[in-house]
Amino acid sequence: MAAPEWIERWTFEVARVATLPRPDDLESPPCMVGFARVLRRRIGRTPRECCWYHQVDWKQANRTAITLLRFGQEAGAEGTAFDDFVMEAIEGEPIGEKEKEAALSLLTPFEAIQIIEPDDWGGDVPMFQDGRHRITAMRDARVRSTVIARLDLLDPATGGPLTPPWE
Ligand SMILES: [Zn+2]
Repeated sequence: MAAPEWIERWTFEVARVATLPRPDDLESPPCMVGFARVLRRRIGRTPRECCWYHQVDWKQANRTAITLLRFGQEAGAEGTAFDDFVMEAIEGEPIGEKEKEAALSLLTPFEAIQIIEPDDWGGDVPMFQDGRHRITAMRDARVRSTVIARLDLLDPATGGPLTPPWE
């Protein structure tokens, strides 16, 4: 078997929602698009039945995700050990199924909220890889802090950052 070309390393950290980019390019569901959303926020009525994102209690889901992240980090769990820790710990949390699903989504590789910095994609502004709907629903629910993820690709030979082939 050929050696892997890289090793994936996921790092999770707590971030203030106010500091994250604002997704303005959502096309669905209707409750998250343009004027309807602005109006609803202005009259202080956030929908609860329209979609999965608005049905989740994001304050609760984020509290749980942040707690599990801290516990996992204190226990020194990394990589798949962290994934296992989260999967097991979430079961015992006294929150609803939707909130468990939401909290888990924030702590799971390839599902977590990921923001790519301009230097990493050659653009002018940070770009969402994942999480635009969740962040929008969190803003609607006035959530202050959440968990975001970063994916680094490491060189299997050195354990350091992978040097892109063009360098
Ligand atoms: Zn909705």
